[in-house]
Amino acid sequence: LLRVEDVHKSYGDEEVLKGVSFEMDRGDVDVLMGPSGSGKSTMLRCINRLTEIDSGGIWLDGTPVYDPETDVNELRQDVGMVFQDFNLFAHLTALENITLGLKRVLGVPEAEATERAADHLAQVGLAAQADSYPAELSGGQQQRVGIARALAMEPKLMLFDEPTSALDPELVGEVVEVMRDLAERGMTMLVVSHEMGFARSAADDIHFLDSGRIVESGPPEQLFQRPEHDRTSEFLTGLQ
Ligand code: ATP
Ligand code: MG
Repeated sequence: LLRVEDVHKSYGDEEVLKGVSFEMDRGDVDVLMGPSGSGKSTMLRCINRLTEIDSGGIWLDGTPVYDPETDVNELRQDVGMVFQDFNLFAHLTALENITLGLKRVLGVPEAEATERAADHLAQVGLAAQADSYPAELSGGQQQRVGIARALAMEPKLMLFDEPTSALDPELVGEVVEVMRDLAERGMTMLVVSHEMGFARSAADDIHFLDSGRIVESGPPEQLFQRPEHDRTSEFLTGLQ
């Protein structure tokens, strides 16, 4: 479903991605880990062209993301993104945060948009909070609205950039639970996260990024128990 091939990206004379390659099949859940500044967010942003690559290629479901003929707006509909800081519209209710894209981007009529948004809120356990404003919700609830909003566009791939790192520890679990549920329902997910619990239970592969290179990839058992590279084991030791 996703092919990333030899992607290079520099900001000024700092090369942030130095030839990153990996592939995901439909339904895969891959986790990107690595130290701060290693290029994880940049890698995600290159996939939906929030950031442009310098060389290499990315293909989503066979479509070349960087082909001049590719419609960036259509591409972005296929790629849902969930951010660390939720990015909800403060002046809209939970429900309205979801219906907005359905109506404006997909042209779904009001009544149907409301119905679909309510279904997505129910899916993340927030049926009762439909009319609440973000400021009236906990961080965990806000992030679940963020996930529901991305899902409502029916993307082929979901990107998560440290979805739980802005949350109080006691709120991490409810968001991880929603993500795990999504993984079990077959969503293709690329997740930047250092949540070992999620990685262990949901990841097919973990890619360890260091200074713009994937230095090691593999299933969680392998990476956690028998890391081949010193950088990987040092990093993982630091997390525990
Ligand atoms: P973190 O764990 O802190 O989120 P990260 O792995 O997500 O880190 P990136 O945000 O991808 O790392 O940043 C990689 C490098 O690129 C950093 O050195 C950062 O300063 C630089 N960088 C990121 N975005 C920009 C930008 N828009 N302009 C200039 N430099 C940038
Ligand atoms: Mg980042």
